[in-house]
Amino acid sequence: MNVDKIRELIATGKLIQFYKCKAWRQLRLKAIERDDNECQMCKALGKVHEVDNVHHIEEVKDFPERALDLNNLICLCYYHHNLVHERGIKLNNKEKKIFDDEKW
Ligand SMILES: [Zn+2]
Ligand SMILES: [Zn+2]
Repeated sequence: MNVDKIRELIATGKLIQFYKCKAWRQLRLKAIERDDNECQMCKALGKVHEVDNVHHIEEVKDFPERALDLNNLICLCYYHHNLVHERGIKLNNKEKKIFDDEKW
């Protein structure tokens, strides 16, 4: 799986195949390990919840070149993953500053 392939999958509406590829599944496990299998937004709120989704901070369809970049991934629970997508919240994994201007 390389960037050209990912771009092709986006263009042809077959991005689902990216999520089935070995490279992604391995990287996903690395992200979960790095984040101690905890939702990073729950963690920021002082709660503990295991990871349901590994989220791309810069969306794959906008930044295919960052699809397999560990620094572009953040582990979230089901609830927070939905919330991020619904509200279009911009996360910042590097600084762990994930609330930015959002009011909760
Ligand atoms: Zn959460
Ligand atoms: Zn996501």
